[in-house]
Amino acid sequence: MAKPPLPAPRMGEPYLLTPGPLTTSFKVKEAMLRDWGSWDGDFRAMTVELRERLLAMAGGEGLDCVPMQGSGTFSVEAMLGTFVPRDGKVLVLSNGAYGKRIAQTLDYLGRAHVVIDKGDYMPPRGAEVAAALASDPDITHVVVVHCETSSGILNPVAEISEAVYGAGRKLLVDSMSAFGALPLDFRFEAVVSSANKCIEGVPGFGFVIAQKAALAAAEGNCHSLSLDLHAQWAVMNKTGQWRFTPPTHVVAAFIEALRLHEAEGGVAGRGARYARNRDVLVDGMRALGFETLLDERWLSPIIVTFFNPADPAFDFARFYDLMKVRGFIIYPGKLTVVDSFRIGCIGQLDEHVMRAAVEAARETLAAMGVASAAPPAAALEERARLAS
Ligand SMILES: *Cc1c(COP(=O)(O)O)cnc(C)c1O
Repeated sequence: MAKPPLPAPRMGEPYLLTPGPLTTSFKVKEAMLRDWGSWDGDFRAMTVELRERLLAMAGGEGLDCVPMQGSGTFSVEAMLGTFVPRDGKVLVLSNGAYGKRIAQTLDYLGRAHVVIDKGDYMPPRGAEVAAALASDPDITHVVVVHCETSSGILNPVAEISEAVYGAGRKLLVDSMSAFGALPLDFRFEAVVSSANKCIEGVPGFGFVIAQKAALAAAEGNCHSLSLDLHAQWAVMNKTGQWRFTPPTHVVAAFIEALRLHEAEGGVAGRGARYARNRDVLVDGMRALGFETLLDERWLSPIIVTFFNPADPAFDFARFYDLMKVRGFIIYPGKLTVVDSFRIGCIGQLDEHVMRAAVEAARETLAAMGVASAAPPAAALEERARLAS
């Protein structure tokens, strides 16, 4: 039986085809229409529910969940500062903007690190991680981005994790844009995500799922008072409270989002809807002549990068504006070699919305006088390099 379409956003509100903040459900927004005292038992119960639900979603034994105020980057910084000891050394696997940001964060924190830089979107592979670890015994931790949102590539974290633990080191994962839609089917020390990605909450905090033993061992590592996950964890376990003012309304919205996530069938259900969104989007855009940056094998169900058409009548700023008029906010690209744009598959969107977005793209191309959406030859050469 075909599922009924998800309800549309309120009149005049465009769909956000972006990787967060994203289109949230009415129930999630409605949950913010009251105030909570941060010390009060009702709010403490909400914090307990939030942590328990996230742990159930993560699965696995011996884990705990520590929420942290701020955007996702704050939680990445907290994870790096808390779990990497001051005399530790990190191998950063970078293939996009978020990998670069991790290396930059380690610069700020003064933690020794080396980077395997794969450029804009080539995947880091297990074998090269194993080789790097074998040649540098000082490396204690490896950091990888699960889905590198800047290209949409789904990195092969399971094979990387095997290489890391095979060499007796520890893995930290930025799963910001994947957690909740893709399973954590690999061994890790800590994984970080945030409220406004695949759980479909509103922005305001992130959270770290970590081995309890690693949390317990991390006392005194952190450079920062407010970003110390060990301290946040210890205080939360003792008092039920966040150490500093929690984003109460965001937490209330998030709990509603967690309930909706469960009702949708958890990680499997959410992941299936996003995968369907991607398939409908990619098929529709290809039928218009667009090409994806990535080969099928690396396409994530989170966000897809398309090459800009070679046709001189195409102009991204105009394409963006005309898509917005039609009710869709898209996302610019982040590649250095060829021009591109991105369309997100996450949020309160279903295949009906994706079909409407493709139709809007068709109308927009016609309005701009773009005869063909085919990319320039250089883009296809880039892609061939990726496939080889
Ligand atoms: C969204 C995102 C982040 C965090 O971004 P913020 O803007 O700080 O919320 C980090 N890593 C990845 C892979 C992301 O997609």
